[in-house]
Amino acid sequence: MNICGYYPESINEGDDLRAVIFLSGCRHRCSGCFNPATWNFNYGEPFTEQRQQEIITEMANNQLLGGMTLAGGDPFFSADEAADFIDNVRAAIPNFSVWIYTGYIYEDLIVSVDSAEYRLLMKCQVVIDGPFIESLKNTSLPYRGSSNQRIIDIQSSIRYNDAVELTT
Ligand code: SF4
Repeated sequence: MNICGYYPESINEGDDLRAVIFLSGCRHRCSGCFNPATWNFNYGEPFTEQRQQEIITEMANNQLLGGMTLAGGDPFFSADEAADFIDNVRAAIPNFSVWIYTGYIYEDLIVSVDSAEYRLLMKCQVVIDGPFIESLKNTSLPYRGSSNQRIIDIQSSIRYNDAVELTT
């Protein structure tokens, strides 16, 4: 797995101050994608164990952070590796909040509880779902690019067996 970006601090990809890690690789190919270069799984730098530990240490030492966000690309195309990374983060920073972006819709990710995608989803608190749809582009919406995309509370959604959206 490669990463194609890392912001130690950002207020644009979720509530609170968050570290943001962009995982390379996406097959959704949305028209008007903000950065088609991120579709390539070889784009960016290898997310080696050493690089992971550097970032984890930096996050652990930053008391101002409210959590981290995984973006892309689409992390769900590297679901096993992304889930393992979250495990490594939580081993160092228990209860660290994780938001995650995807071009899939939530309902597709919960189809199979045995899938790598479901395992990844369950490790996160919030998913911002859905492809970017150019005709629904809205730059005034917090944390997303088009109005079809939802900000979903994952654990509440599982509890109520329906997508529960956060209001922002
Ligand atoms: S899901 Fe995101 S990264 Fe993938 S094509 Fe759509 S906008 Fe681009």
